[in-house]
Amino acid sequence: VRAIGKTLFSEEGTPLRFIGSVLDITEQKQEEQRRIDFIGIVSHELRSPLTSLNGYLQMLEMSAKKNDDQFTNNVAAKAKRQVGKMSSMITGFLDVARVGEGKINIDNKPFDMADLVKAAESESLATITSHTVIYHPVEHTPVLADQDKIEQVLINFINNAVKYSPQGTTINVSAVTQNRQVRVCVKDEGMGIPAKDLPYVFDRFYRVDGEHMKTTKGFGIGLYLCREIIERHGGKIGVQSTLGEGSTFWFEIPVTH
Ligand code: ADP
Repeated sequence: VRAIGKTLFSEEGTPLRFIGSVLDITEQKQEEQRRIDFIGIVSHELRSPLTSLNGYLQMLEMSAKKNDDQFTNNVAAKAKRQVGKMSSMITGFLDVARVGEGKINIDNKPFDMADLVKAAESESLATITSHTVIYHPVEHTPVLADQDKIEQVLINFINNAVKYSPQGTTINVSAVTQNRQVRVCVKDEGMGIPAKDLPYVFDRFYRVDGEHMKTTKGFGIGLYLCREIIERHGGKIGVQSTLGEGSTFWFEIPVTH
């Protein structure tokens, strides 16, 4: 129950009267939990047929290759890419449900941030053709963190930079260490984010309202998961943005010495 108002006290200090409003938020909370549970269950159920589908498509691809059937091979490869996209959406939803249940596991191991940036570089070289992605040299930076999850954050920033900036523009990726924290930045020359929306972009299901909502697809969960991951590492996450000029998304985690 949330109460907004003022309590009137007697001269002896005993409460006499409460003036204001009392709102029952239990129901709201329960409704939200039900939604998250539903998302979790549905995603879980969708996952197994999708895994089988991927397997069948793989078989089809193999047989097409063997029979030198180019057409079937192409169709199977395209279908597999779509299955991959669907799979990563489902993984995102499952992660949201896991966060809701406090079940996101962080598996800390030592690694070098420079290697992680290099891994992201080779992935974007293979997948991003619409933008110029510049990777600035990163010094040897030892950290103790969950490498896959930190990579997920970086890739998410890069994918958003691609998604929310015009083709042909440049994206800069850099990492610098200061005060025993390594700060990784992804800077784009995109549409930017209105100041009024900035405090909310890391909230669950939040998407900035505007024209681009019609052209870009998304559920507003990527940055929410990024924030959860970084906070679970005792780090910080943030964004600087100027409308019409671009945004810089960054995160910071401690460096090991
Ligand atoms: P999604 O992209 O699926 O909507 P995210 O959680 O990744 O979800 O992002 C939330 C919102 O923040 C986006 O819908 C978009 O409005 C805004 N946003 C994220 N990255 C950028 C960016 N690089 N430039 C402009 N807006 C962005």
